Amino acid sequence: MAFELPDLPYDKSALEPHMSAQTLEFHHGKHHNTYVNNLNNLTKDTPMADQDLVTVFKAAYGDSSKVGVFNNAAQVWNHTFFWNGMKPNGGGKPEGELLSKIEADFGDFHKFMEEFRNTAVTQFGSGWGWLVLDGGTLKCVKTPNAENPIVHGQTPLLTVDVWEHAYYLDYQNRRRDFVQTFLDHLVNWDFVAQNLKNA
Ligand code: MN
Repeated sequence: MAFELPDLPYDKSALEPHMSAQTLEFHHGKHHNTYVNNLNNLTKDTPMADQDLVTVFKAAYGDSSKVGVFNNAAQVWNHTFFWNGMKPNGGGKPEGELLSKIEADFGDFHKFMEEFRNTAVTQFGSGWGWLVLDGGTLKCVKTPNAENPIVHGQTPLLTVDVWEHAYYLDYQNRRRDFVQTFLDHLVNWDFVAQNLKNA
């Protein structure tokens, strides 16, 4: 069965004014879709065509003959995870066990915000900023290009795409403003809490 582009979990204009319908039209409809098409072409008639994305990109990671498979499979997964980590009227402060865990591991919520923002902003070039669970501790990490923390044994809880295509139409070069807006208005903390529960 071929890999498929999942629908966005909200309408293309639902995240305005923080993320425009035009950005989602290109980012989901063109960029994400291209990764799906590339992956289908690369895995056609191979056993990988029937495996799940995580199995595929874990197997391809570090294999110099499967760089394209890794990049496209990880990018398909990363983007779906990114869409699910946002919602209209999101952002701000989480509650309950998730907030307690953030306060325990980062000191306080403000320090977490600062660390997440700085981690994402300082990823040189294209890549991703993440909140992960690593050996029972929450951490902010960054990865270049398509790389996903699962290949390092970490469990992703939240991600922000810091490839320029994620923010250039709305924020031009102002990546810091984009990441701050993501934290203030877009994060779906229910999704993060569920990922922590499942970890
Ligand atoms: Mn992207």
